[in-house]
Amino acid sequence: MTNDLLPDDIAQRRPCGSIGPGDDGGTVVVAGFVEDLRNLGNIAFLTVRDRSGKVQLTLLKKKMPELFALASSLSRESVVAATAKVQRSEKANAGFELLPSQLRLLGAAESPLPLGPADAVGVEVETALNNRFLDLRRPQTMAVFLCRAAILRGVREQLQQEDFIEVQTPKIVATATEGGAGLFPMQYFERKAYLNQSPQLYKQILMASGLDRVWEVGPAFRAEEHNTTRHLNEFTSIDIEMAYADDEAVMGVLERVLQAAMRSLNEHAPDALRTLGVTLVPPQLPLPRITYDHCRALAAKRDITVAFGEDLSMEVLRAIADELPDLYFITRWPSAAKPFYIRPVPDSPQHSFAFDLQYREKEITSGGQRVHDVGMLQQRLLDQGLDPEAFAYYLKAFRYGMPPHAGWGLGADRLTLILTQRENVRECVLFPRDRERIVP
Ligand code: ATP
Ligand code: MG
Repeated sequence: MTNDLLPDDIAQRRPCGSIGPGDDGGTVVVAGFVEDLRNLGNIAFLTVRDRSGKVQLTLLKKKMPELFALASSLSRESVVAATAKVQRSEKANAGFELLPSQLRLLGAAESPLPLGPADAVGVEVETALNNRFLDLRRPQTMAVFLCRAAILRGVREQLQQEDFIEVQTPKIVATATEGGAGLFPMQYFERKAYLNQSPQLYKQILMASGLDRVWEVGPAFRAEEHNTTRHLNEFTSIDIEMAYADDEAVMGVLERVLQAAMRSLNEHAPDALRTLGVTLVPPQLPLPRITYDHCRALAAKRDITVAFGEDLSMEVLRAIADELPDLYFITRWPSAAKPFYIRPVPDSPQHSFAFDLQYREKEITSGGQRVHDVGMLQQRLLDQGLDPEAFAYYLKAFRYGMPPHAGWGLGADRLTLILTQRENVRECVLFPRDRERIVP
């Protein structure tokens, strides 16, 4: 039984970008968006684009009057499918052209278009986001998301290779991960619930389950007060938690994950990288570890005072950037600057086993060794003004045999931002959620 919507030979469809002069004499099936039509009276040139590239179909009025008429009537960005012969050609830019024997209109595009995917001019971020599906037809935008997929592929492969188990934790929760700020409340039948800010507490609970290495790629929700180019209210978090491990062990995992992401980009998205003008050289490992105290000392040399316990702002990190490499860890953060679940250094408890991974002044990962002693956890909650009662379900997992553990959370959107060298995290998220935007 034939399907009236699709041409019979559609299953043989070839990516446009895979066809070349070497296919000379063969017959191919292509499908995609009409990028351009040039009708010269007796001959018409139709450019069809899919995610892999473009092909030019050449139509002669005399030979194929019906196809010629159909082609001439097509609006830009309509979806077509064609069966065509490949012919080497000196005149065509690509070194070949396609001579169609069949052409079908599968989905007509209205005009005018809200955004011209083939236009040379840049597109305002707002226009791009309002018309994301059309924006994605622009090779530059498409390239970012092909890169994002390649990055996540590399991350997954590395974690699987290191025997991490993929898990999913709940996104509807009863308590905050780290206190009330930045939470999105929601109505859960008769009760109040929240969208989870991070899988932190659940991945730690799993350390008491025997699933001793877990990873998750999932959404995290934060009501960020500030509107910046690196914060969104919904982002994708790549998380790991690992039992019988300290901060150094999980920093090692992170370094290898990062390297795997870059290798995967070079291997699976070389064309997308080229479109974006990005050359990636995976870093030498290990990455430098620079202590928080050392960063403070570097700032002091420039007459910038950072009080112990204060965060290192982007301004401070920018000011000392020439003494820092591009990619580096900041280690041994003050305990007071980090969440309650981070383990203090035993012989210097004002310091902790927390680390951040930085790309220049931007943070991409936070992690550390965790407190696994329930008494100390309760004390740390109290010290940070949190109510241990609200964390009872979490503390329970620490009472019946909990191995020491460590982990980290890596922002997939920020990682993509950095590796694709974009300026705004909104460019790296298909449908970003910020202070103003929840549609589309
Ligand atoms: P920042 O200080 O940059 O706001 P954070 O320290 O609050 O980040 P963490 O709770 O440490 O963030 O989250 C771990 C990682 O998740 C961050 O390093 C970052 O890559 C990512 N991340 C956190 N918040 C956001 C956000 N609002 N939008 C996008 N990514 C985020
Ligand atoms: Mg952080």
